[in-house]
Amino acid sequence: MSTLLKLVEELNAGRLRVVDLTQPLHAETPLLMLPPQWNNTPPFRMWELSRYDDRGPAWYWNAFETGEHTGTHLDAPIHWISGKDLPDNSVDRLPTRTFIGPACVIDVTEAAAKNNDFLLTPDDVQRWEKTHGKIPRGAWVLLRAGWAERCGTPGYANAREDGPHTPGWSTECSKFLAHDRDVLGVGVETIGTDAGQAAHFDPPFSNHYFMHGSGKLGLAHLCNLDQLPPTGSVVIAAPLKIVNGSGSPVRAFAIAPA
Ligand code: MN
Repeated sequence: MSTLLKLVEELNAGRLRVVDLTQPLHAETPLLMLPPQWNNTPPFRMWELSRYDDRGPAWYWNAFETGEHTGTHLDAPIHWISGKDLPDNSVDRLPTRTFIGPACVIDVTEAAAKNNDFLLTPDDVQRWEKTHGKIPRGAWVLLRAGWAERCGTPGYANAREDGPHTPGWSTECSKFLAHDRDVLGVGVETIGTDAGQAAHFDPPFSNHYFMHGSGKLGLAHLCNLDQLPPTGSVVIAAPLKIVNGSGSPVRAFAIAPA
């Protein structure tokens, strides 16, 4: 049997399952809050066009507006200044092959509960690799931090007077994953792929800087990473084909062993 038909058979038999990695998209979807000197993104807004009524007697449909970086979404290389001149760097031009990649899930839930500003280091990654094997080229590296469960509470943005306090990647780690592991990108449960305090890193928002400068992607506001094994699942995340788009909401999901 062909690999693809086998895949469908395994899904039908329940030996493989589809794990939804996507948060609900609605007016209450949390947004990145930049300092007021910069433009912020509007919230997701939806309005009804008709619902089997005199505006359209047999059909229901809505229209919506959203920022590109609202809800569970993908960051393309053009999103950051370091990736602005790379080829095929906007969501409409990304090679479709990049919409599918194996997942490496690194669980830092305990460390992030103790230290909300926890930053993963290259040493942490190499320790993880001793148990689970080397991160393959073209993999999604997903940071499971116990943050998805905070969504809808003040602890999600975890903002204090000095800004948000959420876990992420050290500058060295972003460099290491982009250059030494040649990953497809990194994914997080938080609102953006940089740590809450990354405005103070050198360079600022260093994960964005090094990932997108290397042509890598980002996935933000993921959930259900606890349902994935450390290795052995495959993530599918395809952005809308927004012409010259810097990012897009996605329906991200993984195919994982049951
Ligand atoms: Mn983004």
